[in-house]
Amino acid sequence: MVSPQSFSKQPSEVSFMKASESTSLYFNQAADKLKMAEWMRKLLITPKREVTVQVAFERDNGDIETVLGYRVQHDNARGPMKGGLRYHPAVDLDEVRALASLMTWKTAVTELPYGGAKGGIAIDPKTLSKKELERLTRCFVDQIHEIVGPDTDIPAPDMGTNHEVMSWFRNQWEKYHGFNPAVITGKPVEEYGAKGREEATGRGVGILAVKLLKRINVRPDQCRTAIQGFGNVGSHAAKFLFESAFPVIAVSDLSGAYYNPKGLNINELWSYSLKNGNRLDGFEGAERLPAEALLEMDVDLLIPAALGDVITKHNADKIRAKTIIEAANGPVDPEADAILSNKKILILPDILANAGGVTVSYFEWVQNRQHYRWTLDRVRQELEKTLSDAFENVWQQSAIHDVSLRTAAFMLAISRVQRATELAGGAV
Ligand code: NAD
Repeated sequence: MVSPQSFSKQPSEVSFMKASESTSLYFNQAADKLKMAEWMRKLLITPKREVTVQVAFERDNGDIETVLGYRVQHDNARGPMKGGLRYHPAVDLDEVRALASLMTWKTAVTELPYGGAKGGIAIDPKTLSKKELERLTRCFVDQIHEIVGPDTDIPAPDMGTNHEVMSWFRNQWEKYHGFNPAVITGKPVEEYGAKGREEATGRGVGILAVKLLKRINVRPDQCRTAIQGFGNVGSHAAKFLFESAFPVIAVSDLSGAYYNPKGLNINELWSYSLKNGNRLDGFEGAERLPAEALLEMDVDLLIPAALGDVITKHNADKIRAKTIIEAANGPVDPEADAILSNKKILILPDILANAGGVTVSYFEWVQNRQHYRWTLDRVRQELEKTLSDAFENVWQQSAIHDVSLRTAAFMLAISRVQRATELAGGAV
C-alpha cells in the first residue's frame, strides 16, 4: 500500500514535452525501425491543414465573448479524416496538432478507412449555460463548415463535448449543406447515433485487457486492477472488467481514490456515481485515499483513463504495476516510457487501447450512409472483431521485430499510411 507522503508530483507541478514533440518521438522510433526516408517522414508527419478561427458568441447577459477554435486535418491518404472536438481551457494548436496525428495512426492501426483530424475550442464548458454552449457550437460551425463533411472530415465528441453538442453541430452544418447525419458521429441514439457508442471506448479497453492477459498467461481473476478516472472511459472499462471477473481493487476520480484490496463492487460505484452527478465524492463502500495514490499502487494492471501526461520521469520509477493499458490519450510521456520499458512493464499504447470509440464512430457513419440500423449485439460483435484483429497484428509485429507494443503499433500504422500515400501516386 502506498503512504500518502510518498506521492509523486502531479501534472500541474512538472514541466512537459510539448504534446506534438511526444507524438513525433514515437513516430520517429517506428520510422527508424522501418528505415523510412527523411522526406517520407516529413510528408507523413506534417498536417495537411491547420485552421485557427475566431469564435465570437453571445453570453446570456448580452456580452460578446471571443475565443479561439481549431481544426487540424492531419492526413487523408487512407480515407476521410476523423477526430474529436474538445472544449477545454488548455486547448491550443500544439495539442490539437498532436491529437490529430494520433488519430491518423489510430485509424490506421485498426484498419478503419479513415485519416486523422482533431478540433477544439479553448474554453471551459462548465462556465457556460446550455444556451451559451449551443451558441458557441453553432458559431464554430459557421467558421469551419466548408472544411468538414461526410467525405472529407468527420468530427466526434471528445473532452467537454457530448451527444447534444454533436446534434447542434449537425443541425448547423445541415443549414448550409442539407440533410446528411454522417457529417458527425457520437450523435444521440434517437438522432442517427449508434447503439453502443457511449460504452465503446471503455468496452474496447476491457476487450483488449482480456486479449492481452491471455497472451501473457494471466487469468482475469488473478489480475488486480486499478483504474484512474471514472468518467466515460474509466467507468465502462471498470464495468466490463468487473463482469469479466477481474478484481478491480481501486478506481479514482477528481475527488479521490476508492480502494478495496478484495475487489470493489463496480455496480455499486456505478449506481452511486449516476445518482451523484457522475462523481464518486462521498462514496462510503471503500477506503478513500488521495487520488494520486492510485497510480503508484502494487497492482497487476494499471489503466490510466483520465488525462494525458500522468506518468512522467518524475513518478515513473514509483510505478509498481506489471502491465499498463493506456485508456487516456498520452498518459505516459516518452521519458517515462523509456523508464517503464527498462523496468519490463508491458504497455498497450493509446493508439490501440482507446480505439474502441473511433471504431464504433465508424460503425455509426456506415449506418448513416446506408440508412440502416444495427443492433447493439452486432455493434459489440464487430467491435470485438476489429480490436481483436488489430491486437493480434500488433502483437505479432512486436514479436517479429522485437520491439515494444507501442513501436509495433506505430510501425504498422505509419507503414499503412505510407503505402496508401505511395499508391495514390502524387507523392512519389
Ligand atoms: P470524462 O471527462 O468522462 O472522465 C474523466 C474522468 O477522469 C473523470 O472521472 C474525472 O473525475 C477523472 N479525473 C480527472 N482528473 C483526475 C485526476 N487528477 N485523478 C483522477 N481522476 C481524474 O473523460 P473520458 O471521455 O472518460 O476520457 C478520458 C480520457 O480518455 C481522455 O484522455 C480522453 O481524451 C480519452 N479518450 C476518450 C474517448 C471517449 O470515447 N470518451 C476516446 C478516446 C480517448
